[in-house]
Amino acid sequence: MGKKVIVIGEIRNGDVRGVSFEAVSAGVDVANGGEVVAVVLGEDVNSLAEPFISYGADRVIAVNHPELKLYTTDAYQQALLQVIDEEKPDAILMGHTSIGKDLSPRLAMKLGLGLISDAVAVEVMGEEVLFTRPIYSGKAFEKEKHVGGSVFATIRPNNIEAKERDEARTGAVKTIEVVLKDLRTVIKEVVQKATAGVDLSEANVIVAGGRGVKNKDGFRPLQELADHLGGAVGASRGACDADYCDYALQIGQTGKVVTPDLYFAVGISGAIQHLAGMSNAKTIVAINKDPDAPIFEVADYGIVGDLFEIVPLLLGELKKVEV
Ligand code: FAD
Repeated sequence: MGKKVIVIGEIRNGDVRGVSFEAVSAGVDVANGGEVVAVVLGEDVNSLAEPFISYGADRVIAVNHPELKLYTTDAYQQALLQVIDEEKPDAILMGHTSIGKDLSPRLAMKLGLGLISDAVAVEVMGEEVLFTRPIYSGKAFEKEKHVGGSVFATIRPNNIEAKERDEARTGAVKTIEVVLKDLRTVIKEVVQKATAGVDLSEANVIVAGGRGVKNKDGFRPLQELADHLGGAVGASRGACDADYCDYALQIGQTGKVVTPDLYFAVGISGAIQHLAGMSNAKTIVAINKDPDAPIFEVADYGIVGDLFEIVPLLLGELKKVEV
């Protein structure tokens, strides 16, 4: 029997985040012929409903309220609990983003549901849904089988492919009112710290620098390479601790977990805590002057040499070919 799946959409800077469409895609599989309902929250979000339909949702619930313009835990939690109470879904999915990580355990607790977090694959076998998730900092994967009752899961960005967009699909968009009361959080100002451009956790190409870049200026050739490939710049904690870049760029156990198609580790030794955040990248290219650096053990391609020579050379060659 088909299931009703709610997908909680996430908006950043006025756009729907790609992982929300990946969650819709997982939702279509989990629904198994049932209904996928996307929920989008904000101040005036009806115009953002259409892409959810074209990516596979059957209908969209738009929740508009001035207090939902910017994310706060208590306002979003209250609004979503009202929607979920009304819809009574069999499954709830959302992105495993900063917001997803903040909101999902609270919602799950309030709803009395268990939470399967950070799923990288979803398989449906009849009534059973099998979620794959990394454990031990990505060194192993476990499969969690869900049978009967409701389930709540978060989806790691860049792992489940969004279905092809079908502009011809149609579906209802319903605007609903929610009552938000006793809110304890007031956002006075949002300070954008991270670099503009491609979002690190959703980037297909990442050029990450470590302590080997030597200083802030050392990131410049990496930024040029990333710009050329339409990617994002990341960093090791070594580089962040040395104040060569902002902590928002940190990848690893205590930073962001990323799964790009292509990951350049430049002047990064490959400590276990760094590998925890990037070892599942599809292709890893390591550039390091130390041939014994542990990063070469996980790299698909290794270049031993000085990054300040190699990166400009690589960029020069790439500029000669279409990417
Ligand atoms: P280093 O280990 O100093 O390596 C620098 C590398 O650059 C060396 O391999 C060197 O050969 C190479 N190099 C130097 N100059 C050049 C050059 N000119 N050309 C080419 N190569 C060059 N780390 C993370 O990254 N992410 C985390 O989330 C994280 N979480 C942690 C959590 C805990 C609890 C702890 C204890 C540690 C954590 N760390 C994390 C830190 C981690 O253990 C390492 O210290 C850190 O990753 C090292 O950063 P690095 O590789 O940039 O620096």
